[in-house]
Amino acid sequence: MEVKKIDCPLCESPKGIPIHQEGPFQMVKCPSCQFIYLNPRPTEEALHEFYQKYLPEEERSVESWHKMMGPVFKRAAHLLQRFQAKGRLMDVGTGFGFFLSEMKKRGWEVMGVEISQRGLNYARDRLAVNVYPGPLEKAGLPEGHFDGVTAFYVIEHLPDPIAFLRECHRILKPGGLLLLRYPHTTPIKNLLRLLGIENQLYDLPAHLSDFSPETLQRLLEKVGFDSCEHFIGGYTFPDNLGKRISSFLFGNLSEGLFYLSGKKFLFPGVSKTVLAFKKRIG
Ligand SMILES: [Zn+2]
Repeated sequence: MEVKKIDCPLCESPKGIPIHQEGPFQMVKCPSCQFIYLNPRPTEEALHEFYQKYLPEEERSVESWHKMMGPVFKRAAHLLQRFQAKGRLMDVGTGFGFFLSEMKKRGWEVMGVEISQRGLNYARDRLAVNVYPGPLEKAGLPEGHFDGVTAFYVIEHLPDPIAFLRECHRILKPGGLLLLRYPHTTPIKNLLRLLGIENQLYDLPAHLSDFSPETLQRLLEKVGFDSCEHFIGGYTFPDNLGKRISSFLFGNLSEGLFYLSGKKFLFPGVSKTVLAFKKRIG
């Protein structure tokens, strides 16, 4: 796989402090903005090719993928509808289209983009949802068109996350809602290292970044989003501090166990979700 060296994708600092090495790949931490990213990393052509084979092909694997993601999609649908009235929805990196299919059943007008031809064909032919070839920035979507934009486990795969967030912001209506779900690996990684357990939790070279809620919020504000709400695991954020801490630890631990088990052990309540709103006019 062809690789290249880059400057920090968020602040353009040329320095990066190595924090994890895996074959030719290295995760580094930017000393000026604290962002954790892959450097060197595969070129964009190499990534495009990589993603043509990323989604499973056999019917059985597609079904088990659906089973694994089903509960995540149901909870996200519920969350989206709590904060936004039914309307037009764009799902970025829609995979096989299961989330769009769920939202269509709930009465949303749905559309997706996907770079994997395999995913796109499945979504179109089997689930009858509108999916366009990605990436999002090249889909030529109209400005101010969508009530909701969602992206599940997408932002950590993108070479230019700022361009992606700008485009999400552009295509949303004023008052529109962005929902992102993403892994946050570094805390569990550090915890395991403290315990003397070496691991490959970063999922390289597929994941190009490891976002924290703080970094993501800064970026969302930078591209113009208004208020942000963060959710952990099963989308709960208890008022009680003790419960919040255990929910945080539990979420990260469960994610760790999932990867350590070769993506077989799926605890409920992994990863993080952020909601961000585009400013209303006036
Ligand atoms: Zn930086």
